[in-house]
Amino acid sequence: MLRIKLILILLLVLLSGKFSYADDPNLKNRLRTHVKILASDSLQGRGLGTDGAEMARNYIVEQFQDVGIQPFGEDYLQKFSFRQNLAWIPAVNIVGVVKGSDPVLKDEYILIGAHYDHLGYDIQNDEKRVFPGADDNASGVAAIIELGRYFSQNPDLLGRSLLIVAFDAEESGLLGSKHFVENSPVPVENIRLMFSFDMVGMYDANNGLHLKGIASLENGDVWAESHAEEYNIRLRQTGSDIARRTDTEPFGRAGIPAAHVFTGQKSPYHKPEDQYHLLDYEGMVFIHNFMKGFLSNLSTEPQLLQSSSLIASVLQESSLVGRRPSVGFLLNTGSGFHRYPDEFFKAKPLLSVSTGLYFNLPLSNIFGLQLETLYDLNRSQISGGNFHRQSFTVPLNIQFGTPDVQGQDIHFFLFSGPYYRYSFSGESTGVKMDFDDVFRNDEWGYSLGVGLNIFGFFMGYTSRRAVTNLLLDDENKILDSNGYFSIGYRF
Ligand SMILES: [Zn+2]
Repeated sequence: MLRIKLILILLLVLLSGKFSYADDPNLKNRLRTHVKILASDSLQGRGLGTDGAEMARNYIVEQFQDVGIQPFGEDYLQKFSFRQNLAWIPAVNIVGVVKGSDPVLKDEYILIGAHYDHLGYDIQNDEKRVFPGADDNASGVAAIIELGRYFSQNPDLLGRSLLIVAFDAEESGLLGSKHFVENSPVPVENIRLMFSFDMVGMYDANNGLHLKGIASLENGDVWAESHAEEYNIRLRQTGSDIARRTDTEPFGRAGIPAAHVFTGQKSPYHKPEDQYHLLDYEGMVFIHNFMKGFLSNLSTEPQLLQSSSLIASVLQESSLVGRRPSVGFLLNTGSGFHRYPDEFFKAKPLLSVSTGLYFNLPLSNIFGLQLETLYDLNRSQISGGNFHRQSFTVPLNIQFGTPDVQGQDIHFFLFSGPYYRYSFSGESTGVKMDFDDVFRNDEWGYSLGVGLNIFGFFMGYTSRRAVTNLLLDDENKILDSNGYFSIGYRF
């Protein structure tokens, strides 16, 4: 009788999902070991491009191999480089996959990612301060390795395939995830959902798990909540706003539902105290169990769709890709001359300059408005001698540009629009200009031009032609004209 009772209890325990981690007693130790190694002194804070980062990479690759995550090509490495000031910095994402078992859904993907780079170290008062980055983000890397192990051992629990990525260069501006989205080894539209595990080691201190952005997946919040109830886990921030300061951001921009798996701000992150022994490994086991069930359910849902709010925000943003309002400096040097439409006389050009500030407002990724406020020194040879004049000129141009070349801040543009010019002093054939009886203060005209922008520096050609007469009396017409070589710099 006792034996039957024992067997029944054992069966109940085995059947209850809540106790399922009891059958993996080493999980907690393995999570701790991953964090301990990745946040150890010898890795020196895993700074971008350092030996410590390379050691972290070697460890993660070894773990991916050991747990059975498959590479896409010969290895797991997705190498890239990016420009920081004037140098090109090399960086590497680590990318693998666990294939799903559903014959149709396996061509769709759910991505679990975690950045492995951190801040490295700095020197203060001749003392080296290492930022170990245990919670940020050795914890996230440990989480994706162990989820990779679980699903490699239980591929039948996956319908869709699971992409597993350790991102580089997150701390430098989400560059690893941005590169991944632009160079995904699978069609990016087949990635239906993304999770960024970024700081998951402080469950007890924060008393909850954030899934910020989960409602960017249609029904994502509802599914998460009902699943959390089963695991008795407290969820926070299950709305549709995608977190912007972790690797979810580039995915959200590309229209992929994305959630930040995060235990919270109560953490010594970005401090030398972010050390492995402070983390809550019980909590990490808890999150692992919750996420493995949630991922398994999500991978077999018949449809994973973008929420309507994600679609709306992508539409709004796609019209402004990479372009922001900006202010900059402009210098135009070239020639000025005058046109005499009613006479045979043709003036000769003389050197003219114009300089000032511009304000640029992007309207879409190809159209923009540019307002300029310029001081002009305008010179030319007119009939009877030389002419020069000082003015303020305010051109308002519509710009029409190419999209950025390969995602870099490089593009060509054409522009055109009206300008207004107010002249306040000058000399004509040796006589001070008389703005009361002979010359006009006001002038209207239009500009036309082309330019090339390279990382905020630009150069181009600008032509300006007046359509209003320089003279007050309309019997003779003198129209101003300029051709400038333009250079500029965006602040
Ligand atoms: Zn982080």
